[in-house]
Amino acid sequence: MSAAQWAEDAARTIMDRCDQLATLTSMENGIERTYLSPQMAKAFELVGGWMRDAGLTVSIDPAGNLRGRAEGERDGLPALVLGSHLDSVPDAGKYDGILGVITALSVAEHLVKSGATATLPFALEVVGFGDEEGARFGATLLGSYALGGGWNDEWLDLTDADGVTMRQAFRDFGLDPERVAEAAHTTEDAIGYLEFHIEQGPILEQRDRALSSVSSIAAASRYMVTIHGLSCHIATPYDLRHDALTAAAEIITGIDRISREAGTRANVGEISAEPGGVNVIAGKATFSLDLRAGTDELRDETFARIWDMAADVCERYHVTMDRECIHTADSAQCDPFLRSCIEEGIEQSEGKEAFGLISYPGHDGMAVAGLLPIAMLYVRCKGGISHSPLESVREDDVAYGADAFAHAIENVATRLRAAADEAEARSAALNADVVLAMEA
Ligand SMILES: [Zn+2]
Repeated sequence: MSAAQWAEDAARTIMDRCDQLATLTSMENGIERTYLSPQMAKAFELVGGWMRDAGLTVSIDPAGNLRGRAEGERDGLPALVLGSHLDSVPDAGKYDGILGVITALSVAEHLVKSGATATLPFALEVVGFGDEEGARFGATLLGSYALGGGWNDEWLDLTDADGVTMRQAFRDFGLDPERVAEAAHTTEDAIGYLEFHIEQGPILEQRDRALSSVSSIAAASRYMVTIHGLSCHIATPYDLRHDALTAAAEIITGIDRISREAGTRANVGEISAEPGGVNVIAGKATFSLDLRAGTDELRDETFARIWDMAADVCERYHVTMDRECIHTADSAQCDPFLRSCIEEGIEQSEGKEAFGLISYPGHDGMAVAGLLPIAMLYVRCKGGISHSPLESVREDDVAYGADAFAHAIENVATRLRAAADEAEARSAALNADVVLAMEA
């Protein structure tokens, strides 16, 4: 089965547009485009032009996000938001975030030009978020938090590497820092959020599939863990040592074992020991721990097992441990209704049974999920590699993805219409019953 012809044509345009966006960078020999930067202004100009050509009404919102809107069967209906991000990490690839915005734009263009939007019971809004990665100011998901009503004015005091405050960056971008929160949607003017994104993992490749839905965006917590022992000479017998580094090593392998058993994803990516002498037992060891799980409960249970195990290890090595939580985010569950519309779309496009994956990377959807129901469509990327110039996607996968995304939007419309018809029929039947009762 091949994707629809329009989607195959669109995929060629999408790949070409991702190449064009890659040239809007602040890095000499790589891609870097950050929030409220001159490169982002250029990207908005370029993508905004494509949005206008697609028949969308274009604006830059008060949070520095690019938005394009197509009306539905009548003007002013609440919107189904199709979003991802246009910013990048330093030395990025061409597709993380960008592919989602550009594909949503091509899908909206197809629906506008084929006349389909004129019968939709909602408006379509394509959003290119100005910040998801947080590369400039440290705090992440700034654009999507603003859209989802979670903006925090304290962020305006954050500074970038050159000491420029976010407040100033808004002014330099031509926006009023006092009005950022006005970018928020409400449940009256939006019905849901769909995001198209590269998988950033190897599962689709392993299963030889182009597409999947997402079941949830994982809960995540990060800690810095410090083991306190006592520095002493290598001559010290084992039972008299307080060896912080060996205890840390045993805790780290314990984390690996527990996380594998629990079906979570853990990483200890950073470790240091003091004083750092080849013949000196380490008196202190510090390591990072990032743990992600499909649900908040699973994350919390897994951490409880890890801390119990660590306490046992510390007792055996005569050391103590303290830990500092440096980041925590709850999981975002994808909405069953929107998710099933995406899975049906995948089946209509690929002709194969759809399935859902847990998303271990964070996404804009997490910041929108507090306000709107969300769902995601994943497309395979080569080797699961992302945040790297080696990011790669296949054009035929993008065609399947665009086709599935368009079907998903039409599935949302079809099911909403059916539900409205059913409600109307039910109220008509109820009225008839009332008339009968009154006549009796
Ligand atoms: Zn991304």
